[in-house]
Amino acid sequence: MNIILLGPPGAGKGTQATRLVAERGMVQLSTGDMLRAARKSGTPVGNRVAAVMDAGELVSDEIVSDLIGEALDLMGPNQGAIFDGYPRTAAQAESLDAILAARGRSLDHVIELEVDEDALVDRITGRFTCAQCGTGYHDRFKQPKVADTCDVCGAHEFKRRPDDNAETVRTRMAEYRAKTAPILPIYEARGLVSRVDGMADMDSVSAQIEAILDR
Ligand code: ADP
Ligand code: ADP
Ligand code: ZN
Repeated sequence: MNIILLGPPGAGKGTQATRLVAERGMVQLSTGDMLRAARKSGTPVGNRVAAVMDAGELVSDEIVSDLIGEALDLMGPNQGAIFDGYPRTAAQAESLDAILAARGRSLDHVIELEVDEDALVDRITGRFTCAQCGTGYHDRFKQPKVADTCDVCGAHEFKRRPDDNAETVRTRMAEYRAKTAPILPIYEARGLVSRVDGMADMDSVSAQIEAILDR
């Protein structure tokens, strides 16, 4: 099973993808994570995309589609993919079809996380992750159980993304509205889209997604 989690920045795609990885042994393919890894390792691609990401704009379709193809090639044939933050443009959606077909895969579900835009700024400005294992947290909605200690690995260091500030968020939302939201009708015409209420608490969002995958 191969699925897309679609929704604006802060909708909960990463949170839900992590849960599906744990519950179902699927593989999370987050182009945002791949690009952050590339910029950290200082590769030529990483250096080129760093400024684009910090501005909240989209990096080129070619770069992200290449990253996705490479990541799929590392997966086992029976592992399902969760596309998180990809595709983000009509051109990427078209590439994804070709990338999947070339590997004997196809899309089973496109799950749209419906959220209220006003809540997204709060979600994003409160977001932080464990510096060691990457587990996601939130200042108000998901604090570590023991203060300053990661629930999963026990580390005490956390980090925040440079693009998770109120100003960049506005650009990222505008990019979503202009370039990403228009790909939904393409998938709708193919009968692939299911919607979940992304404003519900994390557990109920997971339950809604599980129900779609078990249908
Ligand atoms: P995305 O990957 O779509 O950008 P994240 O999964 O990183 O979004 O979620 C953004 C922030 O909001 C994180 O800090 C996360 O802990 C929090 N969050 C995710 N889902 C919910 C939810 N259903 N209710 C409240 N906060 C949430
Ligand atoms: P969020 O889920 O909070 O929007 P991501 O981690 O998915 O954030 O993406 C962070 C940034 O990485 C984006 O603002 C953009 O610059 C870049 N990026 C990630 N995925 C893509 C993609 N599929 N196409 C173009 N740019 C991308
Ligand atoms: Zn950790």
